[in-house]
Amino acid sequence: MTSSAPTDTFRRIALRRHPVGEPTPEDFVVLSEPRPTPGPGELLVRTLHVGISPAARIRMSSRESYAAPLELGETIYAPTVGVVAESRDPAVPAGTIVTSPGGWSELSVARSDAVDVFDPRLGPASSALGIYGTSGFTAWAGLRQFGSIKPGSTLVVSAAAGAVGSLVAQIGRLRGCRVVGIAGGQEKCRLVEEEYGATACVDHRSSSMATDLATACPAGIDLYFDNVGGKVRDAVWSALTPGGTVVVCGLISEYNQDSPEPGPPWFRLLSQRLTVKGFLVRDHHGLRAEFLAEMSAWVDAGLITYREEFHDGIESAPRAFIEMLRGHNRGKTIVRLADDPR
Ligand code: NDP
Repeated sequence: MTSSAPTDTFRRIALRRHPVGEPTPEDFVVLSEPRPTPGPGELLVRTLHVGISPAARIRMSSRESYAAPLELGETIYAPTVGVVAESRDPAVPAGTIVTSPGGWSELSVARSDAVDVFDPRLGPASSALGIYGTSGFTAWAGLRQFGSIKPGSTLVVSAAAGAVGSLVAQIGRLRGCRVVGIAGGQEKCRLVEEEYGATACVDHRSSSMATDLATACPAGIDLYFDNVGGKVRDAVWSALTPGGTVVVCGLISEYNQDSPEPGPPWFRLLSQRLTVKGFLVRDHHGLRAEFLAEMSAWVDAGLITYREEFHDGIESAPRAFIEMLRGHNRGKTIVRLADDPR
């Protein structure tokens, strides 16, 4: 993989038709278009890496959510890290590495005040999407803002081998929690225990998930960081301690469905005086500098580890996305368009 200067055309991947259930490669189309020209206050950004995120699936359907649905022909939504190829704002000159919602695209135009400058001393550009990007920030900010965690309390996190969940598990451990992960399959569970330091990990594909969870959490669950919803969340409800908290971060088990799952068990919310908080990382941008300082200190000290899984070329984005939704990934899924510029 080499880095190349922008040419007269670029490729982007757009929605060809709305997926029904699990997305298929035929739901997407690769389009080749003339290179755009940035206007005043704008940047032309050449994508280095595309972050593959489950949230893209939410935008492919028209059911109620926090994100506007994509029109057919629109570029698939995704956070990206790239190099400014042309700048119409002297404050962000050509050559700067920035993160922006550039989508599944080789080039994008962004307003200069809508990008974040990435400090390459933190790590390779890909780390701007995972550990130092939306995934890391979601884990860190979700726990900081809503997880009133006390040392010794039991924290359960689902999708615990994934980009957000693996970091929630490790931050929870560093904050003194007893961490129990939930992941798909024995091999992922071993990863969560051995690499991410969870006390235990429960396989959500096992028919004994609910009893395995109760065994792994003998004193109940004080905080549940929910990345998946569905039957995993239902199993957690019955093990929450009085005063327990659920941070609703994601509902990936429902993203391929046309209508939402039935609501929560209201009587249990009442009897256990539970707190359920919806959380969107984009509301917490003001904490970014604090997040980067704390996370990079943990990484530099070897206290936090992370995985990145690369797929090469923009045309690999649909396959990378479909495989991630199926749980084939370990850590952050990234589509690589060019080598790291450092
Ligand atoms: P991951 O890297 O965790 O990949 C997704 C994982 O979800 C898969 O590997 C799979 O793991 C798991 N999964 C898929 N289907 C199911 C299912 N039916 N039941 C249980 N687990 C399932 O993705 P991310 O870390 O990027 O995202 C995790 C969650 O965080 C998503 O729900 C996402 O939408 C949410 N999110 C929310 C943000 C916010 O601001 N609120 C910001 C960023 C992400 P396994 O094999 O273990 O099942």
